[in-house]
Amino acid sequence: MTTDHSQPPHIDTSRAHPARVYDWLLGGKDNYPVDEAVGETLPPEARDAARQNRAFMNRAVAYLASQGVDQFLDIGTGIPTEPNLHQIVQRTLPTARVVYADNDPIVLRHAEALLVSCPEGATDYIQADVREPDEIVRHARQVLDFDRPIALSLIALMHFITDEQDAHGIVRGLVSALPSGSYLILSHASIDLFPELSEQVIAQYAKGGIRLGFRDRAEVTRFYDGLELVPPGLVTATEWYGEGQERPEPEESGIYAGVARIP
Ligand code: SAH
Repeated sequence: MTTDHSQPPHIDTSRAHPARVYDWLLGGKDNYPVDEAVGETLPPEARDAARQNRAFMNRAVAYLASQGVDQFLDIGTGIPTEPNLHQIVQRTLPTARVVYADNDPIVLRHAEALLVSCPEGATDYIQADVREPDEIVRHARQVLDFDRPIALSLIALMHFITDEQDAHGIVRGLVSALPSGSYLILSHASIDLFPELSEQVIAQYAKGGIRLGFRDRAEVTRFYDGLELVPPGLVTATEWYGEGQERPEPEESGIYAGVARIP
């Protein structure tokens, strides 16, 4: 970990933060009254979406680990919630190496939980913004071998990045830094599956000062341009399961999810 620990991270409790609202939606304790205030106004489906999204993360990384992928770059990690990504992957591959990145100081505050790696493997954390991808890649190069496949996970992250902030260009840039045989794991809140609910969620987050860029199927599909989606392709979070995995319980979901191979 290279982040300066001499100063405790400053936690702004005067306004809601995405990581803390998500933690509240998952039933976590690492959030504040401002975050809960946003969470309380959301339709109950928002909590389902958070749980479904986290379950997708579990399946997607377990699947890639089962395929031998042992390096992960996880951006927009969120407040640690067991099982964390490295715990899932290291069950199968104890030597796996994971680099986590998030721009919220609250994640840094709890980063110890992300750094308890299997002794054979390694985990690392950097406080960084996905809108500065070069910094993240530069840091990740110190821990991951960029000559071997890496899974880049952007899970429930890119809907916090608007088109004006060049969400697609950022993902393209990150993907282009990875060697052939790498993977992109992405999930994203939809605007078109349950439009009324989505508008409600966007409006409530906006009241809490958080801008969301929910996208439709075509816009989410563009994140995978030039990549090879692995079965079952781009589906909803509850429909995604990898080859050899148990099919999840059927359930409606407003979250798009997909895993793709970088040719
Ligand atoms: N990936 C986790 C957490 C999703 S919540 C999961 O799916 O379970 C979204 C996370 O993205 C939050 O932790 C938030 O702090 C982080 N985030 C939002 N905008 C970001 C940005 N510009 N750069 C880096 N992280 C960001």
